[in-house]
Amino acid sequence: MENIKCVIIGAGPAGYTAAIYAGRANLSPVLYEGVLPGGQLTTTTEIENFPGYPDGIDGFTMMEDIKRQAERFGTDVRQGAVTAVNFAVHPFQLEIDGRTNVLAQTVIIATGASAKYLGLPDEQHYAGHGVSACATCDGFFYRGKRVAVVGGGDTACEEATYLAGLAEKVYLIVRKPCLRASDIMQKRVQQAENIEILFEHETIGLFGEKGVEGALLVRKRGTEDEQQVKIAIDGFFLAIGHHPNSEIFAPYIHTDSQGYICTEAGTPRTNIAGIFAAGDVADPHYRQAITAAASGCKAAIEAINFIRN
Ligand code: NDP
Repeated sequence: MENIKCVIIGAGPAGYTAAIYAGRANLSPVLYEGVLPGGQLTTTTEIENFPGYPDGIDGFTMMEDIKRQAERFGTDVRQGAVTAVNFAVHPFQLEIDGRTNVLAQTVIIATGASAKYLGLPDEQHYAGHGVSACATCDGFFYRGKRVAVVGGGDTACEEATYLAGLAEKVYLIVRKPCLRASDIMQKRVQQAENIEILFEHETIGLFGEKGVEGALLVRKRGTEDEQQVKIAIDGFFLAIGHHPNSEIFAPYIHTDSQGYICTEAGTPRTNIAGIFAAGDVADPHYRQAITAAASGCKAAIEAINFIRN
């Protein structure tokens, strides 16, 4: 069975940065891209806050650049997702796509996080027919149409602003009476003439014959003024946060109540020596491309030290 010095799981900024460092230290890292090569940044629009890009850069291009940088130093970037692990033995065992097995002397988990859904049966019913968690992936289909975005954070504001450039009308459905997003993102939403913010509204269902034609909302739920509201929309976008992709590791690796991998304070070390976690899968707090990249760097340095010692 192939015995790899350093396996990196995940192809976002954390994974690729780890690969650059591990590659430059001659660890010949193998990086499994998983189901979303490039990670969440490939589903975002312009990245304006990553140092070194004074004019901003689109997420896809940035990830392609980091990937090339990782490959330049000998990273073997492979298609495929890690579907099962056995971390009770060393070298660690990993199963790829339910078929191939490999051994790893060190593992860097950089599997990131995935979009959350509200949990309404209608979200599944209309999946791919008007329900999406990625405006930049699917916004194109809603040119000149009416859409809604759920959420009040930076992601929701970013998605709403992006969609406002394509759609005729964008509703931003916010459960609280205020937005959580940063000032600059809030301002962009407020300045867009075709975005209407529906504060204190919650979605309880979607309707439509073949695809989404509208959403059923409740305004001021649980108060005297509670009221049901229907909006006519063709697309319904979720932007209510993410959950960490840690499920397959949880039997071995300590996670918190939300599933984020617990690491030793200030380091990417997990409860198992030789296994490190970097990026959003271990970060319930900052969740930025730059912090993910930094933790990927730390994880690689730890892996290098582990192999040397
Ligand atoms: P956040 O956790 O910041 O915000 C989630 C939003 O969804 C909140 O408004 C929350 O409401 C709402 N929400 C959560 N669950 C539900 C629900 N069941 N029903 C209705 N609404 C719900 O997540 P984001 O993805 O927006 O951001 C994550 C991190 O990434 C943040 O640190 C953010 O700053 C960062 N980010 C930065 C960007 C940038 O700088 N350009 C772009 C995108 C993200 P409530 O407020 O009531 O809890």
